[in-house]
Order: sequence, then structure tokens, then C-alpha cells
Amino acid sequence: QAMFHLGEMVTATQSVSDEVLELLGQEMNYQIQVVSPEEEDRELLDSFDITFGEDAGGDEDLLPRPPVVTVMGHVDHGKTRLLDTIRKTNVHEGEAGGITQHIGAYQVATNLEGEERLITFIDTPGHEAFTAMRARGATSTDIAVIVVAADDGVMPQTAEAIDHARAADVPIVVAVNKIDKPGANPSKVRQQMSDYGVVPEEYGGDTMFVDISARQGVNIEGLLEAILLTADASLDLRANPTMEAQGVAIEAHLDRGRGPVATVLVQRGTLRVGDSVVAGDAYGRVRRMINEFDEDVTEALPARPVQVIGFTSVPGAGDTFLVVEEDRVARQIADRRRARLRNAQFAAARKRVSLEDLDKA
Ligand code: GDP
Ligand code: MG
Repeated sequence: QAMFHLGEMVTATQSVSDEVLELLGQEMNYQIQVVSPEEEDRELLDSFDITFGEDAGGDEDLLPRPPVVTVMGHVDHGKTRLLDTIRKTNVHEGEAGGITQHIGAYQVATNLEGEERLITFIDTPGHEAFTAMRARGATSTDIAVIVVAADDGVMPQTAEAIDHARAADVPIVVAVNKIDKPGANPSKVRQQMSDYGVVPEEYGGDTMFVDISARQGVNIEGLLEAILLTADASLDLRANPTMEAQGVAIEAHLDRGRGPVATVLVQRGTLRVGDSVVAGDAYGRVRRMINEFDEDVTEALPARPVQVIGFTSVPGAGDTFLVVEEDRVARQIADRRRARLRNAQFAAARKRVSLEDLDKA
């Protein structure tokens, strides 16, 4: 029995790791090569002469783009409140009503040294969204804002947030929240974070800490400024706005009237009404684009989140999306991905069956 020789006990209901499968192949003089889903997808796009990812635009036409920020932190430390406060206090010039729609992400404008700059916030706090997207190969975040309540200090999910940011290799800005509360101790937060290796600039480290009150709206501008300063100091955020758009779907649902509605974050290129798009195994043509002010827009630049209407089915959150030259190509890519997904499920079932057979042999 091959499995026995490999020193691995496999019961009839277990599936085996890719490594074991490769070893098993060797044992039986087969070369088994396990191809990751990402590799498989790259090959699929290759066959259409499409490159997805940061290299897609080449080195030309790179222009500065806004940073994309995710807010993380321990439960009840004020993530949702902070995102609400930023959404309310910040109104684009000329958009008198302010942000009216929760579309999964929004952009705010702020002044840094006399220059108006944009920041994109992913509007779903929490670690799940962040890790789910990363697991699907969609790196959507440039900077992690970690919220720590000054009356509570560093808690287990604060430590988790630090780990996630490190794993994704994104710089951290610490928002020391609830400084309005009587028991607030912002210097203790700095001490505790230092123990986790997140050392404030004022202690000689490289992380900016900003004391805020999300409830009272205190020092929100200071936080936005710290985000931009951190982006400028440690990241060179550029994207090619002239290419066909690529990015990630951050949220999607089926609307009764509008059909599938997906919020996509454009990461490079410019997305336009009329473009043929594919996101995961969903495809379509952009019929309408709507921003967080509930306005129709005709194009979306890098780092801009926008709701897209025109998919024929609902993409998954975290699916990468891209514009292709024509509807036919979009449909073919979507169809092949769906078929592959079906095959993978089938293969997983079959892998188990064949091992059961081996065990009996
Ligand atoms: P989340 O679980 O991190 O999203 O936390 P929430 O945003 O839901 O906030 C938890 C509670 O703390 C809510 O009752 C908020 O109103 C409150 N809160 C948030 N920020 C502040 C603040 O700056 N000061 C005070 N006093 N309370 C706050
Ligand atoms: Mg919340």
C-alpha cells in the first residue's frame, strides 16, 4: 500500500494534501504536478493575451493615485463609528449632500500642505473582509488603520489586526480612539503597542499614532493627514490610468430593480460605461456606474470605488475584475472559470474515491 509506505494514515473520508499527492505520485512513478488556482487563472488569462496585476500597465503612464485604507481593531473600539464620522465630516467639493450611499467603500478629500488629496476607505471594518480578499489574491489595501480605544487598551483583536497588517506587509496608522472618555489613557496605548513592536514615532519608531474621538469628531483631520504622510513616506502609490480597468469586487448583491449590483474598486486603468467586464465567473457590460453620492458617473479612475450595474450574475466579494475588449471574451473567461470551479469540486470528490480504492488494494 503506497500510503502506508509513505507513513501516512488515510481514512476513507479524509482528503490528502497536495504534498502527499505529489509524493504518492513519485512512489508510483507518476509525475503529479499540483497547479494552484492562481496559476491556473493566470494561464487562462494568458490564453487571451491578458495580464492581470500590477505589471499589467507596464512602467509607462504611471501617475500618483490615492491610498486605499482598511480600518481594523478590537470589537467596540469604534471602527464603525470612525468610518461614519469620516464619511459625514468629509464632503467633496461640489457634492453638497455628502455621502448618501453605503456602497462598501468611499472616497474622502482632505488638504495636505495646501494640496487637495483623496483617500479611499473600505467601508466594511473587520479582519474577515481583509483576509478573505487576501486569500483570493486580491490585495486591495495599502494602509491599515488600527483603532484602539484609549480606555480599554490593546486587546486580542488588536494583536490580530497587527498580525494581519504585517502578513499583508502594509504600514499601520494607529487611531487612539475615545480620548473623550474619563478613563482614557493614550500613553498606555502607545506603551502597549510598542510591546507588540508597533512603536510610535515620538518614541523613535516609524508608526504614527493619532489621538481621536470618533464620537465627538475630534482630530479626524489629523488622522487623515497621518494616513497621507504615511503613504508618502513609505509607499509609492502609482497606477496607469490610460489602460483598460482592472481591480477587485468588494461587495455585490442582487437588487430587485437593478439586477446584480457590484461595488468594484478600480486599481489601475479607467473604467467606463460601455466597457465589457468580467469579475470571477460573472460577466457583463457596464450599463451604469453610481458613486457614493448616488450620482451617475461615466468613468472611474484608479483607487475609485464605484457601483457597477450590468453584470448578468452576482460576482463574489474579493473576485478580481477586469475590462476586456469585447463581450464575447468576457463571457468566455467567465464560462471557463465556472467550468473549472465545477471540475475542481468534482476532482476533489474523485481524489477521495481513488484513495479509498488504493486502501483496499
Ligand atoms: P466597532 O465594534 O469597533 O465597530 O465599534 P463601534 O463603532 O460600534 O463603537 C462601539 C461603541 O463605542 C459605540 O457605542 C460607539 O458609540 C462608542 N464609541 C465609538 N467611538 C467613540 C468615542 O470616540 N468616544 C466615545 N465616548 N464612545 C465611542
Ligand atoms: Mg462595527
